Amino acid sequence: MEIKICRTTHPAPKPEDPRKAGFGTIFTDHMFLMDYSPDKGWHDARIVPMAPLSIHPGAAVFHYGAEVFEGLKVYRTPDGHVQMFRPMDNVERMRNSAERIQLPDFKPEDMLDAMRTLVALDQDWVPSAPGTSLYVRPVEFCSDVDLGLHSITSATFMILLSPVGSYLSGGLRPVSILIEDQDVRAVRGGTGYAKCGGNYAAANRAAYRAEQKGYDQVLWLDGVNRRYIEEVGGMNVMFKIDGKIVTPALTGSVLPGITRRSCIQLLKDKGYEVEERLFPVDELEEALASGHLEEAWGCGTAAVISPIGKFCYKDHVYEFSKENGPCAQWLYDTLTGIQWGTLPDPYGWTYPIPKEV
Ligand SMILES: *Cc1c(COP(=O)(O)O)cnc(C)c1O
Repeated sequence: MEIKICRTTHPAPKPEDPRKAGFGTIFTDHMFLMDYSPDKGWHDARIVPMAPLSIHPGAAVFHYGAEVFEGLKVYRTPDGHVQMFRPMDNVERMRNSAERIQLPDFKPEDMLDAMRTLVALDQDWVPSAPGTSLYVRPVEFCSDVDLGLHSITSATFMILLSPVGSYLSGGLRPVSILIEDQDVRAVRGGTGYAKCGGNYAAANRAAYRAEQKGYDQVLWLDGVNRRYIEEVGGMNVMFKIDGKIVTPALTGSVLPGITRRSCIQLLKDKGYEVEERLFPVDELEEALASGHLEEAWGCGTAAVISPIGKFCYKDHVYEFSKENGPCAQWLYDTLTGIQWGTLPDPYGWTYPIPKEV
């Protein structure tokens, strides 16, 4: 794939303290774009200065939500290089998400090439302060101008870059979780395993209610029985009970997280037994009441590891822990050590970005 590059003549100032950048509100100087039409296929791959898009108001994405996305990070290592974390896993997941929505497929090496070239061009934007990184946001959406409910013919693919601080302000600290027993996020056969915007639209109301009650995140139960634990907001979830790790199985309504996959590998290699299975909320309540629950944490690219300190289910509040548990802390230290290049990477998870475009 040939990528045309048009460099900005007005580079923006970089954030003075990227740790305070929040998450995804500041963008770098450039973005990647390419278009799909049935006659030309993917075409006009280009990197252009960051600017608002001009899109017809009748584009189907605004009306019927045909959109999928990804999220991964670029890290600056102590020797000044920059590297991505498991980018091909994101590429393959995005293809699966696109397939679910019937957005056009693309060559995996083209997406990787687009990310690598864009990051190489804007690599001065990768911050070096502790806990900071550059977030990569690929998006594909339907650009057909058509209010009829037809199959998708044209699409746009774009990649944005955003320097980010710590996802949860205050760094690694236990978060509080409201277990949602009314709304559901996804059902089997639906789009739960796809990273698509609609899943987040469906989650908004519960997230708002949790926030009103003073909770950080929502924990979702399955859509059929409202009994089996699925995941937390934009994170997968893990529990340590009697020394064993339990995490919900990927049944189709849970997003297959790359952080989840990495944690499972690290935990197994450390000698832990990891069970991927259905995990009923009543089993969690029992483990909380009996003191057998040792730790709980969320895991996802944005926050990496987020220890859980408090649960609320049907107005029962379980003040579980005020500290970061040792296993969650170890996972955080190990994963971020590999990502920031302060620990060796025996798995080949890191992907170096060239110094030159
Ligand atoms: C992105 C996402 C995750 C975490 O996936 P990672 O690949 O680890 O970042 C978990 N749940 C949902 C709903 C997500 O959108």
